[in-house]
Amino acid sequence: MARNLDPKCKQCRREGEKLFLKGERCFSPKCAITRRKYRPGLHGMARRRLSEYGIQLNEKQKAKAIYGMRERQFRNLFEKAAKSKANTGDKLLELLERRLDNVVFRMGLAPSRALARQLVSHGHFLVNDRAVDIPSFLVREGDTVKVKETKKKKNYFQELMKNYKGANLPPWLKVEPAMLSGRIVALPAVTEREIDTKAIIELYSK
Ligand code: SF4
Repeated sequence: MARNLDPKCKQCRREGEKLFLKGERCFSPKCAITRRKYRPGLHGMARRRLSEYGIQLNEKQKAKAIYGMRERQFRNLFEKAAKSKANTGDKLLELLERRLDNVVFRMGLAPSRALARQLVSHGHFLVNDRAVDIPSFLVREGDTVKVKETKKKKNYFQELMKNYKGANLPPWLKVEPAMLSGRIVALPAVTEREIDTKAIIELYSK
């Protein structure tokens, strides 16, 4: 499945804000937004006034960058959200959060969604005891996600077990760090909005 291969820091600079795409580096002084807070390119420092369409487009690009998705995948998810009886914006955020790569990241088993995606596609995880290597797989309430026994011996997971930091664990996830496993105890309820879904809905309604 296609993924967004644009340089990550460039994506943040284009949006003019931190999208936290690179794990620990995003919290360090090396962050490109800290060092060069202007857009990339020749006219990056020029003032820019965005039209309404530009603002909406930016918001969609930001959402795609955060979740590492290409247009087709994102559009499909949006259409799924629009067809549901729930509020489209809330449903879209719920579906984005239910992606397996995002769940692995939220569980604290990877420092970024990009690494979580790589770990998933390299077959390190079981969902309800069945191997799943599709990053866009949508988990459901009650599902368990865990690292395969055979993969736990890898240095990466051994280190993770020693230094596990689950500081940003959302309330809809329960994690057992010693087992490298977790459970989806409820459907993701989005309380803090990183993304203005209203702008995305307006953009796709044109
Ligand atoms: Fe964005 Fe992280 Fe790069 Fe900073 S370090 S620009 S937050 S990806």
